[in-house]
Amino acid sequence: MNYLERFKVAPGSKVKLRKLDPASKDAHKSHKAAAEEIAHYQNKLRELQDLLYAERGHSLLICLQAMDTGGKDGVINHVLGAMNPQGCRVAAFKQPSAEEAAHDFLWRAHKAAPARGEVVIFNRSHYEDVLVVRVHNLVPKAVWSRRYDEINDFEQNLTANGTQILKFFLHISKEEQLKRFKERLDDPSKHWKISEADYKERGFWDDYVAGYEEALSRCSTKHAPWFVIPANHKWFRNLAIARIVVEHLESLKMQYPKPTVDLKCIRREYHAAAKDK
Ligand code: AMP
Ligand code: MG
Repeated sequence: MNYLERFKVAPGSKVKLRKLDPASKDAHKSHKAAAEEIAHYQNKLRELQDLLYAERGHSLLICLQAMDTGGKDGVINHVLGAMNPQGCRVAAFKQPSAEEAAHDFLWRAHKAAPARGEVVIFNRSHYEDVLVVRVHNLVPKAVWSRRYDEINDFEQNLTANGTQILKFFLHISKEEQLKRFKERLDDPSKHWKISEADYKERGFWDDYVAGYEEALSRCSTKHAPWFVIPANHKWFRNLAIARIVVEHLESLKMQYPKPTVDLKCIRREYHAAAKDK
């Protein structure tokens, strides 16, 4: 089965995260054994992004959501690292600024959405407004509970206008998070990533799971599907996401645009210039 189907949350289904193994590697034995496949999908990503950029018919929006240490930065590095920086961008969603907070919650997401030909990765996204906001009661329930429908309408509008949307939840176990917190403590080059909020948020793990399960269940749609990616193994997480993006872009059957000039004529001019040289 292709990965597009294998890890997709079927629209209308109810997600139970504890039934999905965060340590899955599919049929792969090890990182080393998968190295060739990883390189293959990275090359494919590069080719397909070049085509997307040249064709200017579609744009691609990749949303990344995860618990702290889930690996959003690693995915951005891996996926964007394979692409030509011309035509790619990352948008990070932090606590809303005063200006953002004065608008509706989708305003900043819409502003950051990709233009035709462009790839944009959302590092966190408009889903924070039904996750952290819900867990900490930052707005009344009556407000956040209507946001699922508002998000679906918003995403439908983007896709109707040529944006391809792929949304990834990086699924790690609670034990894996603790291990990664420890690695951060032990590695001075990672100390800057540590925040007190991380440990505080860990105390809300079950509330976040409930929030994610509702968002994944209600907002995985045909036009803008969610994928639950087993993310305890970083290399498998990267491979799975690269492969899903490749499979999706391939399904678009993009074509390089036809030349806008008469090539016969240009060739004649070229040969004349070469003779004159
Ligand atoms: P980081 O991605 O680690 O730099 O942290 C960004 C922080 O901003 C996270 O704790 C998010 O939960 C928080 N954040 C993102 N969007 C919102 C939002 N709409 N309302 C409140 N907090 C948010
Ligand atoms: Mg953080």
